[in-house]
Amino acid sequence: MRLFRISSLVLSCLGFLTLAATFRPSEALASEAAPASPNFIVIFADDLGYGDLSCFGHPNIRTPHLDGMAAEGQKWTNFYVAACVCTPSRAALLTGRYPIRNGMTSDRRRVLFPDSAGGLPPSEITIARLLKDHGYHTACVGKWHLGHLSPFLPTDHGFDSYFGIPYSNDMDKVDKASHFELAGEERYQAYNVPLMRDTTIVERPADQRTITRRYTEAAVKVVQQAQAEASSPPYFLYLAHSLPHVPLFRSEAFKDTSPAGIYGDVVEEIDWSVGQILKAVRENPAGEKSRQTFVIFTSDNGPWLLFKSHGGSAGLLRDGKGSTWEGGMREPTVAWAWPKSLARGTVTDMGSTLDLLPTFASLAGIPAPADRRLDGYDLSPCLLGTGPGPRNEMFYYHDEGLFAVREGRFKAHFLTKTSYTAQKEAVKHDPPLLFDLGNDPGEHFDIAKEHPDIVARLTQLAAAHRATVEPVENQLDKRIPADQKP
Ligand code: MG
Repeated sequence: MRLFRISSLVLSCLGFLTLAATFRPSEALASEAAPASPNFIVIFADDLGYGDLSCFGHPNIRTPHLDGMAAEGQKWTNFYVAACVCTPSRAALLTGRYPIRNGMTSDRRRVLFPDSAGGLPPSEITIARLLKDHGYHTACVGKWHLGHLSPFLPTDHGFDSYFGIPYSNDMDKVDKASHFELAGEERYQAYNVPLMRDTTIVERPADQRTITRRYTEAAVKVVQQAQAEASSPPYFLYLAHSLPHVPLFRSEAFKDTSPAGIYGDVVEEIDWSVGQILKAVRENPAGEKSRQTFVIFTSDNGPWLLFKSHGGSAGLLRDGKGSTWEGGMREPTVAWAWPKSLARGTVTDMGSTLDLLPTFASLAGIPAPADRRLDGYDLSPCLLGTGPGPRNEMFYYHDEGLFAVREGRFKAHFLTKTSYTAQKEAVKHDPPLLFDLGNDPGEHFDIAKEHPDIVARLTQLAAAHRATVEPVENQLDKRIPADQKP
């Protein structure tokens, strides 16, 4: 495993001296196998860029809780989502399958909308369904975006409970002003998005000014209740924030507090939220004898660059949300565990949200579904420090199109399209563009001419992958008939 231990010298350079004092030797802990039936928490930001956390290099956004989580655990620098926009990215995380396999991606409608009639097919096995069927308590808090009608809701897909906004926070717009005009204001009433508890709408429009705080309170409650009794079953908490997706909102306590402006305020509130959840995990009444809890933090796609200062930053990576350049799909990812820590350090091995289902199954001693093609790998050797990362390739989908492929350090682009709608048509590359992401993570220097053998190999890899994809019913194209709209 290409994992670099963080020395106390490096820690001091990064300003983590106070945290270093609490460290324990990671090698001994990493060599111990994880106990059966650990708890799992996934914290999923929306449109957070690769460069938006201070531990990933942002100079003005302060994220001490995520920085501490990374210092006590692992910072993953080559971690990918399976799609560059919300709906297909979320489908991939929960199922461990490229969305092309279950109809959750479309060239015509990129994500689900309030008039969509489709959603994640009931035949799909989500992480929640898998774990629930093996005795876990499961809870979903936050943005769903995999179908807002039954049978596509979280409670239809293995979650015992749900509290959140069922699609993006900029939908159901009832104000005539454009999204760009509204981005400069804080009128949550401009978006008539519902807030749901289980299958019932409990507030509309959702007051988004307090949404991060309320998600946090709900998530902390899930953790506290699940840990209240030593005999309680293990739990899986999926907390998918609605932010920092535009329009931006933050609680009063975070207003105008970040040196990075409103976007910084929003990210810093999410960082506070992470701190609250880790605190709740640590305050398990069982103390050091607590069930092991794994926490993964990442984002669903890159920054929404069209919104300028209201969108984030992909740091040194190229482009953002809606593109298959690295900035659209490589995410700032942090892994942490308690009471036994992970093998601490920076992990440069490849990982993906596709890997969470097989990894959690492995850590819980549960067989992964064998009746369907999974695209994820078991990353537990990386987390526990027992072996190298198993992932060596990544396929970059733009809607239904396979635009690029990465194998090892090399990435070939067959098609490219810049962020979101700024560019109408994709550009075809024949021969493909080739980049060495090892020494050129920003994808500046095309080396295809010098390495025709690598181009041929990656082209073959893409063709072999395409051959595994079978036609399925598209879910994103389905609309509620006009006479049946609520
Ligand atoms: Mg998103």
